[in-house]
Amino acid sequence: MIGGLRSIGTERGTKDIDMADELEGGCLCGSVRFRTMQAPLRTFVCHCTFCQRVTGSSYFAESLFPMDAVRFNAGTMSTYAHLSDGSGKKVFVHFCPTCGTTVSLTFERWPDIRGISRGCYDDPNAVRVSSHIWTRSAQADTALPEGVDCFAQARMTLDGKAEPCVRLTAPVMARRT
Ligand SMILES: [Zn+2]
Ligand SMILES: [Zn+2]
Repeated sequence: MIGGLRSIGTERGTKDIDMADELEGGCLCGSVRFRTMQAPLRTFVCHCTFCQRVTGSSYFAESLFPMDAVRFNAGTMSTYAHLSDGSGKKVFVHFCPTCGTTVSLTFERWPDIRGISRGCYDDPNAVRVSSHIWTRSAQADTALPEGVDCFAQARMTLDGKAEPCVRLTAPVMARRT
């Protein structure tokens, strides 16, 4: 468990320093509410095909927290367990059974980590995106911004080796295939 935490630890030099440590948010209908008790470990945009499908949109932006740093109200969430093609491990999608909003992800691979959907914060702009991952599957017409770490795949290989990343100097449109 600790190893998992370490391997997904705070990104060097990009910790959010200009944001409130505690943020609140919730689902579309308001029955699920949460409060985050510290700054996120990091906030990133994922262009993988799972994230496109689970959001029904172009990509998924999420913040990662230690599991015990996110508190929920009494609203009950439903959970869907999806077996990841890549890792063979489960990703748990936590959503509001009333309005269908995906509020949170948890991971069999990283049991101490919880992802929170950026779009569910009351103020999504209170967190700053520091990286884009799985850019190789980004949908055409999606712009990749300058100044953030862009990874063609995940940040790390399945056996924990760091993947290379690039920093664009100007926005680039994802390629058409
Ligand atoms: Zn709801
Ligand atoms: Zn993804």
